[in-house]
Amino acid sequence: MNKEITSREIDYSQWYNDLIIKGGMADYSAVRGCMIIKPYGFALWENMQGVLDKKFKETGHQNAYFPLFVPKSLFEAEETNAEGFAKECAVVTHYRLKSDPDKKGKLIVDPEAKLEEELVVRPTSEAIIWNTYKGWIQSYRDLPILINQWANVVRWEMRTRLFLRTAEFLWQEGHTAHATEQEAIDEAKKMLHVYADFVENYMALPVIRGIKSPNERFAGAVETFCIEALMQDGKALQAGTSHFLGQNFAKAFDVKFSDNNNKLDYVWATSWGVSTRLIGALVMAHGDDDGLVMPPKIAPIQVVIVPIFKGEDQLATISQKVNTEIIPALTALGIRVKFDDDATARPGWKFAEYEKKGVPVRMALGARDLENNVIEVARRDTKEKQSYPLENIANTVADLLEEIQKNLFGRSLKYREEHITNADTWDEFVNLLDTKAGFIAAHWDGTPETEEKIKELSKATIRCIPLDNKLEEGNCILTGKPSKQRVLFARAY
Ligand code: AMP
Repeated sequence: MNKEITSREIDYSQWYNDLIIKGGMADYSAVRGCMIIKPYGFALWENMQGVLDKKFKETGHQNAYFPLFVPKSLFEAEETNAEGFAKECAVVTHYRLKSDPDKKGKLIVDPEAKLEEELVVRPTSEAIIWNTYKGWIQSYRDLPILINQWANVVRWEMRTRLFLRTAEFLWQEGHTAHATEQEAIDEAKKMLHVYADFVENYMALPVIRGIKSPNERFAGAVETFCIEALMQDGKALQAGTSHFLGQNFAKAFDVKFSDNNNKLDYVWATSWGVSTRLIGALVMAHGDDDGLVMPPKIAPIQVVIVPIFKGEDQLATISQKVNTEIIPALTALGIRVKFDDDATARPGWKFAEYEKKGVPVRMALGARDLENNVIEVARRDTKEKQSYPLENIANTVADLLEEIQKNLFGRSLKYREEHITNADTWDEFVNLLDTKAGFIAAHWDGTPETEEKIKELSKATIRCIPLDNKLEEGNCILTGKPSKQRVLFARAY
């Protein structure tokens, strides 16, 4: 066990923070609720961006960039959206500071530099984007517009947590405009599946695809689709959302188009986003008491090679083999490899360090191994070690990386399957939440009031109504009223 890391059993929350801070992913900052993403964490984000960006482009989207600031009058235009986000908005009121006449070396806000109209720091960009689309759309020939932006947004969250919930976060937001309702619904669903595919096949994390209940719906959306994942403590996490916005924003910003019969209609919209929260999901879902566990497909470093040597001569011989044969063979297969030949640190320290960082495969090469033409290979997920012939080592490692990827997904899937439980009475429901946790499939009478009451009493929310849900007659766990299907409840991050 790594002594620097609090074990999950002792303090799950501290364990999570330890993994991130000690694994070199991020740091706390001087700004409340905002964090610094360090190079190792950012390299992971870049890998995630790379895969997603490619998928967005393959599905016909283009990247663009819109301003950080939204004039308040535009922000107000779509009322539901504005009201939903109002409580979390940072607002710019002035554009200048000046020297404090009373205190040398201090600055004060210049009262004469008050903005005529306040600017909202975007919590999401529908308003500024739909105000722009108004000028871009006249006829059906201008549609669809399929745009994505990679950006930062600010939501003044009261209770923050590294990556999972920060006041400023990085994300991508897709904003599309369509001629028909069906096309917009299809787009929203398509992007949900793109997210699900990414999270499952690259992050090795199974998700449930579903629809949000009205209380959990994005402010201003007609329907919110989501993917929900389960963390190791049995709590759920919303991993991504895709919204069908109907004509709400088109009406708010008066965006109309003429169809091929010259008939005018409002444009249909979607928006969809995933954020740096996904990094938090990855940490919580795969990490163990020794540190992070990176899924190979997006790991910043997939393989680390540590030389075991006495004296400069041995290091030189090992380095020669590594630099001229092993690394070229690995990189030829597209494997991201690091050779840690730092002579000032001991191998044991390096082993613990890369374990903390969750590097999927560690190879150790000593003088005796070289003589025998073998190399020791350790996998991070199971901690198994084995000696392999150096011949053909790149293919061996490539296979192993694939196996680790599969194993991580299988492990999480097994846990998730074991943690979806039916509850038929209120007592059963509460008891399950307090003991086993996970997703609880239960009947609900379909009203927002009951949903709210359940949340108040149990701290569990409806995570989603799964897309592939089966209809089943039953009675609401709280009110006993009739219900046609179970929905998934959980306590969530
Ligand atoms: P939304 O625009 O509310 O649908 O959120 C879009 C995405 O951003 C979802 O995947 C959320 O899980 C994620 N998200 C929302 N709030 C935060 C936050 N404070 N920090 C990090 N990610 C967030």
